[in-house]
Amino acid sequence: MTRVRLENVTKVYGSVIAVDHVSFEVESGELFTLLGPSGCGKTTTLRIIAGFEVPEEGKVYFDDEEVTFLKPYLRNTAMVFQNYALWPHMTVYDNVAYGLRIRRKQLGLSEEDIRRKVKWALELVKLEGLENRYPLQLSGGQQQRVALARALVVEPRVLLLDEPLSNLDAKLRIEMREEIKRLQKKLGITTVYVTHDQLEAMSISDRIAVMNKGKLLQYGAPREVYFRPINLFVADFLGRGNILYGEFLGWENEYALVRIPDLDADILGVSPHKDLPSKVAVVIRPEIMKITESRVPRDNYIVGKVDLVMFLGDRVEVRLSTSKTSLVVYLPNTMYPTVGQELKLVAPKDNVIVIPARWE
Ligand code: ATP
Repeated sequence: MTRVRLENVTKVYGSVIAVDHVSFEVESGELFTLLGPSGCGKTTTLRIIAGFEVPEEGKVYFDDEEVTFLKPYLRNTAMVFQNYALWPHMTVYDNVAYGLRIRRKQLGLSEEDIRRKVKWALELVKLEGLENRYPLQLSGGQQQRVALARALVVEPRVLLLDEPLSNLDAKLRIEMREEIKRLQKKLGITTVYVTHDQLEAMSISDRIAVMNKGKLLQYGAPREVYFRPINLFVADFLGRGNILYGEFLGWENEYALVRIPDLDADILGVSPHKDLPSKVAVVIRPEIMKITESRVPRDNYIVGKVDLVMFLGDRVEVRLSTSKTSLVVYLPNTMYPTVGQELKLVAPKDNVIVIPARWE
């Protein structure tokens, strides 16, 4: 099992800083995801770990060994690409065996060893029986499994997955992300996963690093980055949130008190920051608000009129007009709110997030 550590890594292409002083550590056996919008530097970071790119600045370590300048084939990583990059003229068996055959002498493998390992890898990804097919005779999901088997068969120290599910349809994507998570845990292989899909990242990862414009903004467990985002970019990228701007008035025990002109109210919330500037933003996720009959002192009370109702199957989404703004609220799918109806809601202060009103 291998730990991966990046220290102050910077990669520049001409005038573009693709990766800007990025540092993080992936624990051994962990599934660590780089999450961010297109062009934020995720793939470049992954390629630096693989050794396909050498950073201008900074260092990369596998355990305590520095690998910054080590050739890719000496690192024993395996990468799965978005487009799978299978050899079209080779059968499934030969595609999976390829990585072993080129290292055959180095690893001292017989044809029988290779056969055994390929069988093991194909069983792992549930592709037994398809050994003699060519990639074009497989579905997208099956091709993706071949790519995964080809990566796993060499028993890499680090598995690198670059948007591995983005070419699959929505249903298959959910199925495959479950399978990748199971496999990764079963094999205990240190994995770095790249995606721009926040749901995929939250569902699959032990920890997530959120990137934007080459910078790593925050990393932590999915719940941590979701419930304690350090800035507006992270809060907004990781889910829906009603963002309201206001003035920080001070602390009431561990809660930050904020005057929100748009709600004509003072709101209490928690913050990942010990110090807050006077201009802050309050993030209220749509699912934390609950219907309430009575007003509880020192909790956040919000009253509004239903403006729009959308039934989404697993929940009801409501647009709520308050005096000066409008909020998105998720209600249980057993409720039947109607347009024009008044709703009284509580937004529990432990789930309301207060952060500086900054996106960077
Ligand atoms: P995507 O999800 O679209 O692949 P990403 O987050 O993986 O995006 P990168 O591919 O790492 O982002 O790119 C980061 C920045 O570096 C982008 O502005 C990109 O245009 C630039 N870049 C990446 N590779 C090169 C290259 N070989 N030459 C020049 N610029 C590059």
